[in-house]
Amino acid sequence: MQATFTLEDPQLRFDELMRKKAVLLCVLASLFCRCDEPPDAQLTRFEYQLGSDTVVTVLHEVAGSDLLFFNMHDDENTAVEAGLRVIALRGGRLLELQHSGDRLVHFGIASAAYRFDPNRIFTPLGIERTLERYSQADSAAIEAVQAFADSLILDGELRGARLIVTLHNNGEGEYSAESYLPGGDYEVDADAVHIQQGRDPDDFFFVTQDRFFQLFKAAGLNVVLQNNSTVTDDGSLSVWAGRERIPYVNVEAQHGHLAEQVEMIMEVYRIADNHFN
Ligand SMILES: [Zn+2]
Repeated sequence: MQATFTLEDPQLRFDELMRKKAVLLCVLASLFCRCDEPPDAQLTRFEYQLGSDTVVTVLHEVAGSDLLFFNMHDDENTAVEAGLRVIALRGGRLLELQHSGDRLVHFGIASAAYRFDPNRIFTPLGIERTLERYSQADSAAIEAVQAFADSLILDGELRGARLIVTLHNNGEGEYSAESYLPGGDYEVDADAVHIQQGRDPDDFFFVTQDRFFQLFKAAGLNVVLQNNSTVTDDGSLSVWAGRERIPYVNVEAQHGHLAEQVEMIMEVYRIADNHFN
């Protein structure tokens, strides 16, 4: 006989109660821990000593793809969520820098306090400028940040990567693909800009090689090609990748544009599967 339940059924009320409890537990858990971790992810934790402070990177790994995604700004959480969702579906690796939850990394040596932007430390000039801009650039701090950048490159296996994909978020109407158009703040850094009609210019790819520019453009997505010879040496990973001739794609989306960023990352898989296998 098939079991049927009515609203008065004690078993159903029990199930309903448990479901509500489970929802409540998940809401509570999400306040304190990550609910978005893929269930089959393998986690590796790296610790870096910067003066008297510790900075951590976590590598989330799911079998199925060797693509590497790198999130280095700790306040760009849509990027992490999008990355985790996609590696749960497709496999891949997400390297996430964790410290204070802020964009800038803070550390101390003796009684001196320093701050820097972790995406400005991949060239010697970049390290000096970012320390100077946010705090001070003395030799002890420069040496500590250089060692940190070298370790990130080594542990993230960035030098040997077939493709480095970074995940970033930006604010509405601030930094966007339009920043690279003639007259924009970063005009000098770009070789070509494609802005697709109907697409928010805040959601765009930033690439170091023309073949990727052409592929994203053909897919009807916003894309900016870095000019590897005129780009300002600000120490960002794209500058380093351009010099090292390592294919580099930044998936840049507005904070909260989760669906858009997931779609953009899926496009990276499509291109990697079709053109770089
Ligand atoms: Zn960023």
